[in-house]
Amino acid sequence: MSTSQIISYEPATGEELWRGRRSNVDEVVARARRAWPAWAAQPLSTRMEMVRRFANEVRKDAEKLATLIARETGKPMWEARTEVESVVNKVEISIRAYAERTSQRKLDNAMQGTASLRHKPHGIMAVLGPYNFPAHLPNGHIVPALIAGNAIVFKPSEKTPAVGEALVQCFHRAGISAALVQLVIGGPEEGQALVAHEGIDGVLFTGSANAGIAINRKLAARPDKILALEMGGNNPIVLWDTPKTTDAAALVIQSAFTSAGQRCTAGRRLIIKASMYDAVIAEVKRLADRMIVGAPFDEPAPFMGPVIDNQAADGLTESFLYLLSHGGKAIKHMTRPRDDLPFLSPAIIDVTGVKDRPDVELFGPLLQVIKVDDFDEAIAEANNTRFGLSASLVGGTPAEYNRFWANIRAGVINWNRPTNGASSAAPFGGVGLSGNHRPSAYYAADYCAYPVASTEMEQPRAMFGVGLREEK
Ligand code: NAD
Repeated sequence: MSTSQIISYEPATGEELWRGRRSNVDEVVARARRAWPAWAAQPLSTRMEMVRRFANEVRKDAEKLATLIARETGKPMWEARTEVESVVNKVEISIRAYAERTSQRKLDNAMQGTASLRHKPHGIMAVLGPYNFPAHLPNGHIVPALIAGNAIVFKPSEKTPAVGEALVQCFHRAGISAALVQLVIGGPEEGQALVAHEGIDGVLFTGSANAGIAINRKLAARPDKILALEMGGNNPIVLWDTPKTTDAAALVIQSAFTSAGQRCTAGRRLIIKASMYDAVIAEVKRLADRMIVGAPFDEPAPFMGPVIDNQAADGLTESFLYLLSHGGKAIKHMTRPRDDLPFLSPAIIDVTGVKDRPDVELFGPLLQVIKVDDFDEAIAEANNTRFGLSASLVGGTPAEYNRFWANIRAGVINWNRPTNGASSAAPFGGVGLSGNHRPSAYYAADYCAYPVASTEMEQPRAMFGVGLREEK
């Protein structure tokens, strides 16, 4: 039985941060339906102006919002600031993307009038957000959907309602009506109610594959509703020949442990050439040993904070032990300095000898290492997953990178760069269980509006060429 309230706790202290009542989904959707037509009828320039005002509101309150993000997620303050920056930058990127992907086009065609392509909004979009980037990721759906002329019903993760509320307040302060961007407080139950609601025209989801698949199943008989699923990954880093072992190790660390490994694009599996193993692993371990794990506002600043809650920390510890008891060899143990708080040390485990490695996303600071002998084996191992979000090759020759790029199944493929840190100015999405082929970021515009093709003439004009009898 779910209680009538949602309570959010600070991961770093365990203290209560926020509480609020669960929303009434029917009321929220009805309100959105009343508000939507007026917004859709606004000229595009007005809608653009309003989201620009929203960016200004976020800018004004940047430090306050970053502090709230840091407190509610546990991520270091420096990282929370970069999240706020992404929220602001999303606005101009989305305006550009709308113009490029979904703007109007006219094709003159003398005989058949004017042929034109325009786009229309879907209506009411339910945005379901994750906890790891509680402002930036839902915002990545909300801003393009607003520009396209949709109304928004936004349910943040039940673990980050305070940031969700603060984000929605920025839209309202910008002058966007309270009925047009509404907050839904709740957990999976409210998410399910939104997905099933007749008054919702589309679901824009960012979260785990399990939840995404459940939503996809629910909408299987509803092709009329647009569904964009941005899900997880089990992302490989293939490490090949390079003399620059220190840089290579730093890229591995950044991929695996930024945001305490709570990024969909985190490097989870290091697939490493046997001859590079000793040098690189020693360096990776040295860096991981130096890594500061701490609370968001600690000085000196931590590299990473806690994971989101004790349940997540328990699950990760169990996964580490599972791999260990199934043939894994610990390179760096996962430790938990305090049982009552979800701080975890970065953990590294060699799973080369583990048979039937579970192909699941272990969403935390846990890196699995697999030793291989040749490049084909490395590519096969990298593709040995149902997911396909991001992948990196570190080291290797241009020819090897070409082979890597051509053969890896993923929506983000990098060379000598981390698996994470994708640009908002590019499309962002994955194949396999990482998404449903509706990439977000730059291509979010595509799922926020549908194309309408028209041929148009000012006066009716028609002629038959063949197939009529002579007039009597
Ligand atoms: P989650 O799947 O638990 O929850 C995401 C949202 O969906 C929450 O708002 C939740 O309440 C709601 N929800 C859960 N079950 C639902 C259901 N059956 N029906 C409707 N709504 C439901 O995800 P999380 O734990 O908050 O976030 C972490 C996950 O998100 C990781 O798997 C990560 O890889 C993924 N993620 C993906 C991207 C991407 O862009 N591909 C980005 C960030 C995070």
